[in-house]
Amino acid sequence: MYYVIIVKLYKFIKKKTMFKKKREISIIKMRFNILNSCIRSLCTVQCTPKICIVGAGPAGFYAAQQLLKDSNTVKIDILEKLPIPFGLIRYGVAPDHPEVKNVLNTFHKVAINPRVNFVGNVTVGSDVSIKDLRENYNVVLLTYGAQFDRLLNIPGENLNNVISARNFVGWYNGVPENKNLKINLDMEEAAVIGQGNVAIDVARILLTPVDKLKSTDITSYALEALCHSKVKKVLMVGRRGPMQAAFTTAELREILKLEGCRTFWREQDFENIEAMVPTLDRPRKRQIELMLKSLKESKCDSTYTKELYPIFLRSPVEFLGDKKLEGIKFAINQLRGETIQNQVAEMTGNFEEISCGLGLRSIGYKAIQIDNSIPFNTEKGYVENINGKVEGNLYAAGWAATGPTGVLLITMTNAFQVARLIHNELMSSNTTKLAHGWTALSKILKTKGVQTVSYEDWQRIDRVEQERGKRQGKVREKIVDVKEMLEIAGNV
Ligand SMILES: Cc1cc2nc3c(=O)[nH]c(=O)nc-3n(C[C@H](O)[C@H](O)[C@H](O)COP(=O)(O)OP(=O)(O)OC[C@H]3O[C@@H](n4cnc5c(N)ncnc54)[C@H](O)[C@@H]3O)c2cc1C
Repeated sequence: MYYVIIVKLYKFIKKKTMFKKKREISIIKMRFNILNSCIRSLCTVQCTPKICIVGAGPAGFYAAQQLLKDSNTVKIDILEKLPIPFGLIRYGVAPDHPEVKNVLNTFHKVAINPRVNFVGNVTVGSDVSIKDLRENYNVVLLTYGAQFDRLLNIPGENLNNVISARNFVGWYNGVPENKNLKINLDMEEAAVIGQGNVAIDVARILLTPVDKLKSTDITSYALEALCHSKVKKVLMVGRRGPMQAAFTTAELREILKLEGCRTFWREQDFENIEAMVPTLDRPRKRQIELMLKSLKESKCDSTYTKELYPIFLRSPVEFLGDKKLEGIKFAINQLRGETIQNQVAEMTGNFEEISCGLGLRSIGYKAIQIDNSIPFNTEKGYVENINGKVEGNLYAAGWAATGPTGVLLITMTNAFQVARLIHNELMSSNTTKLAHGWTALSKILKTKGVQTVSYEDWQRIDRVEQERGKRQGKVREKIVDVKEMLEIAGNV
């Protein structure tokens, strides 16, 4: 609207000034400027697009970054369930991967932009509904990630010490709801079901010498438990073959180089694989070559105290034991299908039992429908969308929209693309509806008695964590109790 008025004014003035003297022209120009700034301030109040982002993880921050870049006027409120921002960067990324957390510098710049308002401790779906948000904002963008587990649905899944990798990660990374996880590390053998990057992360944490973790931001209680851990062997089991392994080459290389740990591959898993190497695309070729090299090296003697066993072509069919886990029964699979990509695991009818006292299920995260009004694909676990567009003024990005796959780079690309779509759609609609945004939302939250946490409040929590960490020679000591976070946040 602002641009339409300005263009019309400009044309009018051009016509008027065509045959006038210099002095008259400058008076007209001055009047034009005054009028322009009046219209601009009027329009900023009325036409500023107000955007609400649900979830302060990477997708939310990357989308906000792009929206700020594309538009000089948008105002963004980022709502977050926890009192703390940054999603899986804080609560997923392994403590021995601090370089991944450098992205927080970018997110910090976004958060302190005067057009951005971080609001922590607000659970969308219960503290406020999507309907409320859609009524009070021009755009609502869902970036609430994938916060639940997939289940194997096999007997024995409820035995003690059968744990989801998500909960284990949450436990060592200080997710408040995982702080009291019951985990017993008083055995030599652990099995990780799954072969993605998360599976490698959890295997590495179990196998890493604790001295290497001491100065990281791992929680003190996890460090203490790992100090006393008796776990010596970690099996990492996948349904399909080496060609279909889901981990990235970088993660594999890192675990193969782990100090004091030897990797033992099963030779039979690599039958016929060497001959296929020349036919593979470059990334897969590099990965298979790395596995083959490690297979040959694993025959050499060296000093080690920990062992990693990647095992292929096995599907768990039962967790064995009475109350506590004693072993896992696996179906032996073979591959069926023409191409490497579409080959599926097919049970042969034969079985193998492996003894272990800890079972970590790492078969993927799952998004949920946080509000009944969100169109949701329950079977696959993501918000129904086409390139980020859900319906009307509702959009989705990141793991909530794509499903729980992809490293940060993929999440970033997706969030940028959805933010551009939002910007283009806002630009192409002739009028920006007057939206009350935070003014209305803050009233709703106040009525419900929700204590909100600002970015400044988070910075106070951040300082306390860093000070506590410093005293222990660590990067930070994470606060794992929401009540304590809120106390520090409210302690202005
Ligand atoms: C264990 C693990 C380790 C990883 N390590 C790496 C790595 O080393 N390198 C790498 O590149 N990638 C890594 N990734 C992938 C990366 O973390 C993801 O690509 C990225 O976090 C997805 O971002 P997101 O914003 O969609 O989801 P999330 O990071 O999950 O953020 C979602 C946010 O929404 C909030 N939320 C949820 N529900 C609500 C609600 N109802 N109301 C308000 N807020 C809500 C959550 O609390 C969270 O803060 C890892 C992933 C996992 C699981």
